[in-house]
This record gives sequence, C-alpha cells and structure tokens, in this order.
Amino acid sequence: MATLNRPHALLLPFPAQGHVNPMMQLSTILSARSFYITFVNTEYIHDRMLKSGSTKSMADFRFETIPDGFPLEHSRTHNELSEVCKSMVDICPAHLEKVVDKLKGKSDVPPLTCIVYDGCMSWAQKTAIKLGVPGISFWTPSACGFYLYLSAPLLMEKGYIPLKDQSYLTNGYMEEEISCIPGMPLLRMKDVPSFYYDATNYIFEFLITQTQVGMSADLVLINTFDELEGPVMEALRDRLPVYSIGPLLEAEQKNGLSNSFASLWTEEKSCVQWLDDQEPGSVVYVCFGSVTVMSDQELEEFAWGLEGSKQPFLWVIRPDLVHGTSAKLPMEFVKKVKGRSFFVSWAPQLEVLCHPSVGGFLTHSGWNSTIESICAGVPMICWPFFAEQQINRTYVSQIWKIGIAMNDVVEKREVEEMVKRLMIGKEGEEMRRRIGEVRDASIRAVNKGGSSYNNLEKVLLKMEGKYR
Ligand code: UDP
Repeated sequence: MATLNRPHALLLPFPAQGHVNPMMQLSTILSARSFYITFVNTEYIHDRMLKSGSTKSMADFRFETIPDGFPLEHSRTHNELSEVCKSMVDICPAHLEKVVDKLKGKSDVPPLTCIVYDGCMSWAQKTAIKLGVPGISFWTPSACGFYLYLSAPLLMEKGYIPLKDQSYLTNGYMEEEISCIPGMPLLRMKDVPSFYYDATNYIFEFLITQTQVGMSADLVLINTFDELEGPVMEALRDRLPVYSIGPLLEAEQKNGLSNSFASLWTEEKSCVQWLDDQEPGSVVYVCFGSVTVMSDQELEEFAWGLEGSKQPFLWVIRPDLVHGTSAKLPMEFVKKVKGRSFFVSWAPQLEVLCHPSVGGFLTHSGWNSTIESICAGVPMICWPFFAEQQINRTYVSQIWKIGIAMNDVVEKREVEEMVKRLMIGKEGEEMRRRIGEVRDASIRAVNKGGSSYNNLEKVLLKMEGKYR
C-alpha cells in the first residue's frame, strides 16, 4: 500500500518496561496490518531503548520523543514515580500536541487516523478530540486490575479506601472482605491496588483522575482474553466500549511475527545456554520484573528458601532490586548453590519461560509476566509488590488455580515449601495441566474466529478511520 494511503496510528506508552512492551506488541501487529506507526516515547525511555538495541527490530516505525520534565540522568525508580507522573501530566500534553503538529506538516507522512494511549496517560484523549480522530485507551494491567482501578470512587464511597492510617496495613484490616463490586468474588482489602491505600501520595489522585478521564475514550483495549477474564470483562462492558485483544504475544505469532520486546536493559543470553544443560522441567525461574524493590532481609530469605528447595534455579537480580544499595547475596549461600544456580541482571524472559528446562516461575505477578507464563504453560509462585499485582495473585492462585499465593512476609521455610509444592509432586502437576489448558484457550482466542481475534478486527476498523 502506498505510504500516504496507509492508516496511521500514534502510540503513546507510559514510560515503564511493563507498559512499553505490550504497546510495542500492539504496534507490531498494527504495522503488519499496513499501519504507519508513530511510537512516542519519553526521551528517557527512548534513550534506554537505543542503548539496549531494542529499537533495531522496529526499523520501519517512526519514533518521536517528548520530555518527562527531568534530565536523562535523573533517577526514575519506584520512589520517584509520583514526581515523574506529576511532571508528565503538567508538561506532556503540550509536547504531544507539538508532535502531532509536526506530523501534520510532513508531506511524506499519512494523516493520523487514531491515537492509542496508555490508560495512565488518558490526558491524551483531549489531543485525539482536537484532531478529530478516535482516542483509544490501552490498559496494560489485567482486566481485574483495571476494574479495581476503575472502582476507586465506589471503594471510597463505601469507606474502604484510603486507609485511615498505616496501622491498617497490619491490624487485620487487609483481610476484610469486599462484596460491593459486581463480577468480582473473593475480593479482600489486600487485593485492592496498593496505590489506593494512601491518599497523601500523588499516585492516588493521579490514578483516579486518569481512569475517570479515560472513561471518555472511544475504545478501551485490554491485553487479556474472554476465556480467562470473562466475568470481569462482562462487568466492564456494562460501563465502557471495552475490548479484550490478548494475549498480544500470541496474536503476534498468529500474524507470523516474532515476539517484540522493547527491553530497557541488555538481555544476558548466556542463561539460555545454561538452561540447555539442565533437566527438562527442573528449573525455577525467579524474577520480580522491572520495578519491584525489596529489603536485604527479603533477598536473603528468598536465597535460603531456594537453597533449601534443592531445585536448580535461574535468578534475575537487577542492580536496583534491593532498596538503596546494590543487591548482595551471602557468600555462604553462593557457595552452597554453585552448580545448580545461574544469576543474571536481566533475562530474555519469554525465551527463558518457553525453555523446556523451566518448570516454575517465582514472580511478582506483574501482568506481562503472568501472561508470558500462561503463554509458556509455566505455573507460578506469586509474591506481588505493588499496583494491581495483588489481585493478579488472587486470580492466579484461587480462580484460575495455575499458581500458589505467597504471604507478603517472606520466610525462607515458606519459599522452600512452595518451590517443592510447585516443582515436585501432584499439586504442581495439576497446576501444570491447568495452565496448559489456559494456554490452549489463549491460542484459540487469537485464532481466526476466536474472541480476541474478532475483537481486534473490530478495533482495527475503528483505528483505520473506517467508521467513527
Ligand atoms: N522482563 C525481561 N527480563 C527480565 C525481567 C523482566 O524481559 O529479566 C520483562 C518481562 O518479560 C515483562 C516485563 O519485563 O514483559 C515486566 O513487566 P511486568 O508487567 O511483568 O512487570 P513490571 O516490570 O511492570 O513490574
């Protein structure tokens, strides 16, 4: 198709690994369906993608950048999340408009037919309205996580959030059941997104505003599938023009594409060779995503629990995994696990999960990690950190029964016992069987005629500007 006749999607991810990856997957699918792609990163994220080499495979995308208000060398860890979000809300809308004006002025660029923005960047809906194209909000968490974000006004009205004070985190209140949200069984206070505990943190206001503003989106997309999150999708459909289009990983493969990742770190591929030498299904993959931080003591409890399990393991230890320092494992532990362990600072995660030697995943229950584990058919042990990871743990362990829920307080004996339950014995086998069924359902969802396939076809028409 001649360039100027191609539909043109501008995609705007939230600047974090777990948001950029699925936006990149969606962009790759759109590109394969003849779309001209403009991918708008913050300068910081783009710089990291260039350094890790992950933009190379997206040579036919047009990349544009906008500032987030801080110099490149400014720290953007979990602790700085509030200030970065605040700054972005203040300055990014004007910069996005500049990008749109620049694109309009280019004779070799087709006119924009839609703007797809991360649900946490719902301020971009205004730009879409001004331009007269559909504004499409893409929420990268699970549908159940998104549903909880959206339910904040109800939870506030019923007095559940914010917490009255910090003591509510430990006085038994977190076990309290919540029954006011239709379509969501088994909900307890500890499943509510952690951002909603503390109203003095800017993220509280930020998320409530972005989810409510996002209700005016022309379409809402979620990287899930109906066979997995049907009841929640139903409840959401009562309120929004929402479409489940996932797993995008599977949809990419269905479209004959290799999986795209926009890694912000350089992947250490050496771990794959190590996996090649391990027994089938024997290795526990341990990784807590791109944001989780823990204390030295938590790191040690995990370490000794893994040691006690006697299973081989591959552990991703990011340099910033431990609060305030760089992670150091006890020498005695390192000696004891020599020969049955491998450590990297960043792994090619999907390749690892799909490796035949990997039999279990100790995860922080980020949505991308959960979906990747499902697509690889690997059951999980869930130790969530923040955001909507807590509700993901509940769904994985109690509703889908494809993993085990860990307590929030890490204890080596519990880690050891859970690894054994997952890796050896009947319970693990049963979870492996169930996650295999879920994986098969996910493939059916993206196959021609499947639920996500049909949804994506409808969404594409809207994105192409074929109907308004
Ligand atoms: N990831 C990776 N290598 C690693 C750790 C993570 O490629 O060593 C990827 C992982 O595959 C996933 C993303 O980073 O796609 C993390 O997203 P998720 O939603 O699981 O968690 P977050 O980082 O947002 O907490």
